[in-house]
Amino acid sequence: MTRKFCVSCGKAEKELISGLCSECFNREKVKVSVDRKVKGMVCRNCFSIYYKRWNSFSGSLDEATVEAAFVATENNIYVENIKEPTTGIEALEVISTSPRDYLVTLNIRVKDEKQNIERSLDVKVPVKLSICPTCQRSVSRYYEAIVQLRGLEKKSPDEKEKIRAAMEKAILSQNDLNTFISELKKIRGGYDFYVGSAKAARKSVNILRVKYGGFLKESSKLFGMGKNGKELYRITYLLRLPEFSIGNIIENMGKLYQITGLKGNLVSLFDLKERRSSGTSLAKIEKNKIVAEKKDYIKAIITEVRNDEVQLLDMQEYKTFYLHLNIALKIGNEVNTIKLNDTYYLLKTEEEDKHGH
Ligand SMILES: [Zn+2]
Ligand SMILES: [Zn+2]
Repeated sequence: MTRKFCVSCGKAEKELISGLCSECFNREKVKVSVDRKVKGMVCRNCFSIYYKRWNSFSGSLDEATVEAAFVATENNIYVENIKEPTTGIEALEVISTSPRDYLVTLNIRVKDEKQNIERSLDVKVPVKLSICPTCQRSVSRYYEAIVQLRGLEKKSPDEKEKIRAAMEKAILSQNDLNTFISELKKIRGGYDFYVGSAKAARKSVNILRVKYGGFLKESSKLFGMGKNGKELYRITYLLRLPEFSIGNIIENMGKLYQITGLKGNLVSLFDLKERRSSGTSLAKIEKNKIVAEKKDYIKAIITEVRNDEVQLLDMQEYKTFYLHLNIALKIGNEVNTIKLNDTYYLLKTEEEDKHGH
């Protein structure tokens, strides 16, 4: 019996491969690599996978992402010096690096059972979300949610436009797939936004509700079946803004209140006579009459302070008038007032704002 020695390490072995023991051959000659340009592509709308052409896929977005990394990789693995390799690929990790980019870590294991050779390699394959030509044609009509913005009947054109722009900005700034507005309809008392992403629609409606207050109603409607027989719903978010806005003066049980804050269902009020702040719910004061708005404000200058009597100069009519007030006011300061039925009322002053009275 002839003894065979590995030319590299000198180890004696029954069978040598090109003069090397399997260990040395494995280390020195076997090479496994993957084309660096390998990358996958998935349609973000229907989850079709692109490899040479678009192929439909049934499964979740995560599954499609892994599958796209697999198909892009499996035909681009180069193995040197293994006669009959068997290749196994396993997904180790899928991470999202941006709303439209994923990085899939794959483990590639190449084996030759007969020669007792095995090589393992981890590769990171980028997968990009795109839109397939079929979906491209229908994307302009695609939407998951409708945002119905209501309660704008009595707002000024400027205010309406400001609110519309705020809604649009809130939707488009959501870091989500499909955050596009496929249609905007102007209707009486508001707008309908057709939004590609239901999640973006929900978040942006809440942003506006915090900013302007209002009532929110959510409803959903079945509109079809997904690829896996999953029911698909379209969600409608109806946000009805209150008739009044910050700065309006309302009358409640014979008392005048300045609206100083609106957040969701909460309203901050300032009692113009008692000069005290309080909070209430939107529902409680919703039906109250608006008696003045910011455009009705009259600027006035404090010209004299004597005990609890204050003299002010109406800057519109250049007329002085007196108010009985028990608060600290500085001569020369400018304040906002309103005049209702020939009576002046001082609005919440900056000083009162600071001290939270
Ligand atoms: Zn050896
Ligand atoms: Zn598609």
